[in-house]
Amino acid sequence: MRIILFGPPGAGKGTHARILSEKWKIPHLAAGDLLRSHIREATDVGKRAKAILERGELVPDALINELMAEQLEKPAAKRGFILDGYPRTLGQAEALEEVLGRQKERLDSALYFKTSEEVVVERLSGRLVCPQCGANFHIRNIPPKKKGICDRCQGPLVERSDDRPQTVRHRLKVYEKETAPLLEFYRKRGLLREVPGDFDVSELQEELAKVLKGAASPQG
Ligand code: ADP
Repeated sequence: MRIILFGPPGAGKGTHARILSEKWKIPHLAAGDLLRSHIREATDVGKRAKAILERGELVPDALINELMAEQLEKPAAKRGFILDGYPRTLGQAEALEEVLGRQKERLDSALYFKTSEEVVVERLSGRLVCPQCGANFHIRNIPPKKKGICDRCQGPLVERSDDRPQTVRHRLKVYEKETAPLLEFYRKRGLLREVPGDFDVSELQEELAKVLKGAASPQG
């Protein structure tokens, strides 16, 4: 199964990608998580990306394309993958087609998490993340069992610096301008599947199971 998840920030892509990745035993490749780990480790990429993420802008296509191509070429991604937060521009979508073309592979589906602005703002304003394992929580909607502690790896939870209201508003604008055109790109290729991002986690998992039944088998 080779799928991409896209939609506005706060749509729930990361949460659902993680669940599907555990269920199908295929890697969850999250562009934002990868960039944040470079920032934590202060690599050259991290140094270039830090200020860009803090402003809520996108890093240059060439940079993210190279990072993601490297992930997609790893043996772990041979049986399939869930791409989360990549591609995010038309240039990235074309680069992804090229990488898959070289591997003689193609995407099974592009899942669009259609989400209303109120829900996005509400979710991002209470989001907590685990920098250690990447798990997401929410103060009200998905509270961790122990306050401030990750259920999965027991690491301390933090708020993301780009979840400040002003930056969130900017990320939404960037999404509309750069990422929304992917809808048409994948619709034309017959790969677009729309799912209701406003649904809560278990409802949306049921919906995803239905939508993906029509796509290739998880092992494919
Ligand atoms: P969200 O989907 O909630 O915005 P992510 O963790 O996917 O969160 O992304 C956080 C930030 O990382 C983005 O605002 C952007 O700065 C950078 N980023 C992530 N993916 C990409 C990408 N494909 N292209 C360029 N920048 C990216």
